[in-house]
Amino acid sequence: MDESTAACLFCKIVEKEIPAEIVRESDTALAFRDINPQAPTHVLVVPKEHHPNAAELAAASPALLADVVALAAEVAAEEGIDEAGYRIVFNTGAQAGQTVFHVHAHLLGGRALQWPPG
Ligand code: IMP
Repeated sequence: MDESTAACLFCKIVEKEIPAEIVRESDTALAFRDINPQAPTHVLVVPKEHHPNAAELAAASPALLADVVALAAEVAAEEGIDEAGYRIVFNTGAQAGQTVFHVHAHLLGGRALQWPPG
């Protein structure tokens, strides 16, 4: 872990240095419940490797971005929300509401979701 990731909250969750309710894990990604859920299912899926946002992850490692989305889909199936439908959101940048700068997919489902989001 270098200096830029040493203070990263989600790196610490990946390293199991701080607790999280982990729901699924692959070799490259980790899924855990959001601490402040906005829907009956609200799971965050992160690559184990630190990248600040989805755009930078896509540029650096498209396969890893695919791993994140695939793990989110596995969690959706496990949670039983895949038939009704769910949303995968990557907030990117402060104005979009990104507060943790380790890329994470929000997997949201289990209720009717409104569009457009606020
Ligand atoms: P963002 O606003 O898109 O960056 O999403 C960050 C998310 O991380 C928010 O939905 C927070 O509720 C969630 N969060 C912050 N700290 C923790 C934690 O320690 N465990 C799980 N989720 C967290």
